[in-house]
Amino acid sequence: MKMVGKYENYAEWYLDMVEKANLCDKRYPIKGMNVWTPYGWKIMTLIDSFTRKELEATDHGEVNFPLFIPETEFKKEKDHIKGFDEEVYWITHAGLNELDVRLVVRPTSETAMYPMFSLWVRSHQDLPLKTYQIVNTFRYETKQTRPFIRVREIHFFESHTCHVTEEDAQCQIEEDIEILAKIAKKICLPYTLLIRTEWDKFPGAHYTVGIDTSMPNGRTLQMGSIHHYRTNFSVPYDITYEAEDGTHKHVHQTTYGMSERLLGAVVSVHGDDNGLILPPAIAPFQIVIIPILSKKSTVDVAGAAEALRDKLAAAGFRVKLDDRDDRPGSKYYDWEIKGVPLRLELGGRDIENGVVTFARRDTGEKGTIAMDSLIPGTQLILDDIMSTLKAKAKAFQDDATKAITSMDEIPKEDTSELRIYSFGWCGCEECGHKFEDEHDIKILGTPYRPEGKFEGKCIVCGKDTELQAFAARTM
Ligand code: ZN
Repeated sequence: MKMVGKYENYAEWYLDMVEKANLCDKRYPIKGMNVWTPYGWKIMTLIDSFTRKELEATDHGEVNFPLFIPETEFKKEKDHIKGFDEEVYWITHAGLNELDVRLVVRPTSETAMYPMFSLWVRSHQDLPLKTYQIVNTFRYETKQTRPFIRVREIHFFESHTCHVTEEDAQCQIEEDIEILAKIAKKICLPYTLLIRTEWDKFPGAHYTVGIDTSMPNGRTLQMGSIHHYRTNFSVPYDITYEAEDGTHKHVHQTTYGMSERLLGAVVSVHGDDNGLILPPAIAPFQIVIIPILSKKSTVDVAGAAEALRDKLAAAGFRVKLDDRDDRPGSKYYDWEIKGVPLRLELGGRDIENGVVTFARRDTGEKGTIAMDSLIPGTQLILDDIMSTLKAKAKAFQDDATKAITSMDEIPKEDTSELRIYSFGWCGCEECGHKFEDEHDIKILGTPYRPEGKFEGKCIVCGKDTELQAFAARTM
């Protein structure tokens, strides 16, 4: 069965992959609310486990807030409500009774958490308050939905923190960026950190840092974001602490959010025309063992394959022995689609030679591992798959980024040649809007951590500027 090429028709390829690898079932009778299957959910929970580990290691406490938010609380921060008004689901009835105060199904949890934070935070000794939760959020998407990338029920991670000063909150952003780096390493994805434009920042934020990655169709995908709120929410929600001098002051807040889009990016960036390619750190099965049985052989291949599985499992690898009564070729095909990083084939001759044959999913390279160095030999290959995937994805992102000095260099057509463009921008909204409107392209922002000093001219008005901006068409 020939599949659609990833670079030929990314949209079709993506849907095909999600379905063939059985990551979710989108036949549930609500559009954009998909059913997580065991295989897809396992990958997601492995990603979550790294998030949880990093958050716990940095003294964040896990919380779990109610799904419903009273309209009265939801409307306290006026920019926030303006930003979400059209996207939220409302609960208007309970049983047969119409509710006096309507309820919002959380689109994000600021307005659920902050009324409680105002009760939790009393004195400067309660700070910093660092919390997070991994829950589902809901947004009424009107654009075309796409599994993991644009859905209406979203598997979501969000951390929320409160601090004494703006500087403390700024340090939290730095810590979030370190946490992000560790999680991104596990999923082998490169990303950019760009401060969003004033008109594109999170509703209610002082500033927003977008976390974007390059997709195979040349568009970028926002995988997550980090926000500095200053006191924009603590004032309307009255989150104050008593300072050492006895005065009451508003806390400074930050949030950091990521979602199941991480999985959408993993599928899109690493996969190829034969299926998924999962980074070993998040693969439900890192290794699949295929016994090569032969009627002529007198060696107990089935028994040896079981022993091989037990040995690898005991060493901590997630390993699957495929002992179905089927041809090896057909088994290879199935596990290739599912993106299992390493396949081990074990036949009579391998056993006689004291080796096992391997095939890497990422490069297709084949070879043998000596049985007496099975564990370190396997680990070495899995580690190399991690670094190879990362390097390949990074090279793709670098290739996709192009410096331009004139707007004419941006193709007007929606082509696969889409890129991330970098250019000079004077920083004014007028030039920004003009640039975006003329090319139906989005300014992703300016570097959170600029690489050296930039000197150029605003691509719109020609003024000298030290500000570098990035723009792309987005998913
Ligand atoms: Zn300008």
